[in-house]
Amino acid sequence: MKYIDEYRNQELIKAVSDKIHDISTRKISIMEICGGQTHTILKYNLEEFLPAHLTLIHGPGCPVCVTPVNFIDKAIELSMREDVILTSYGDMLRVPGSTKNLLTARANGADIRLVYSPLDSVKIAKSYPEKKVVFFAIGFETTAPANARAVLEADKLNLNNYFMICSHMLVPPAIVALLSNTQIKLDGILAAGHVCTVMGLSEYEILSDKYHIPIVATGFEPLDIMNAIYLTVKQIAEKRCEVENQYSRTVTKEGNIKAKEIIDKVFIKEDREWRGIGTIINSGLRLRDEYKKYDALINFNFEKTGRIEKGNCIAGEILQGLKKPDKCSSYGKECKPEHPLGAPMVSSEGACAAYYRYRRINN
Ligand code: SF4
Repeated sequence: MKYIDEYRNQELIKAVSDKIHDISTRKISIMEICGGQTHTILKYNLEEFLPAHLTLIHGPGCPVCVTPVNFIDKAIELSMREDVILTSYGDMLRVPGSTKNLLTARANGADIRLVYSPLDSVKIAKSYPEKKVVFFAIGFETTAPANARAVLEADKLNLNNYFMICSHMLVPPAIVALLSNTQIKLDGILAAGHVCTVMGLSEYEILSDKYHIPIVATGFEPLDIMNAIYLTVKQIAEKRCEVENQYSRTVTKEGNIKAKEIIDKVFIKEDREWRGIGTIINSGLRLRDEYKKYDALINFNFEKTGRIEKGNCIAGEILQGLKKPDKCSSYGKECKPEHPLGAPMVSSEGACAAYYRYRRINN
């Protein structure tokens, strides 16, 4: 197929739906890891095309949602300093810290600038040598290569005023944490196609073997997701557990070698706290010692920061697939996109935002 419309064609989706109904005979739960996939599922009402005994569980793959409160508090604290320009992607501005968000800090006079690329931050640092420019780097394996590139560029320019709050998360350790949680019952996993485009499939093969679970690398259009569900259900019906690649138009087994090299050159793994979930071993990236002069968390002193969620936010349970957003008592009442209590209601990849936006339209 060549055009995007074909991946949204209802007749093709219905044909795959029929195939799923033909082979799906028992109760199963499949988790889509990525928040982008959750939004597609809600936007195109894909659950309507699935058997009632097949449950889709929404996973933790929203980088904004899992960024630790502690990092947001530190970003806010830095942004309030006279000599600092904080740069960030737009989604992060409305995510609640323990007492306020970056948008409030900006309204109170903080110099916070939105960027569309990490290299924009390097340019700002070059243009304002009298200021310290701090980039709030969030994301999974997908954004890590570009952020690594920004650090190398700052190094090439010998900038002494460029810093990064490095809040990179890694997906496979989070999958291990989910599969090790006895409260969460999964029969299959739809892996995030863009993460696999960078990292390849080998990490997922290890997980599939170890936990005896089908994993399908999946794209983001409705037909991608339906086809991936079909492949997962087929594996379950045939009692197979392996990694399959639905998203072969971008994912290869080995991934993007150059992107992996640059990640490895600049970053090193460390244990990382995931908001609402807790600390997951080796699930974060920090700057290697060779680049620690750019690490904002090392080069600035911080006051003590809190780590509390507001009100009745159950984002941790949402992010682990233990509850769906409409089961949160604050959903659509105290918590709406205009007044979010938790990160999943803010982000364009957050499950609560997807429910709020599309469930009402589809209903
Ligand atoms: S609806 Fe709001 S309060 Fe409830 S879990 Fe989602 S973000 Fe938190």
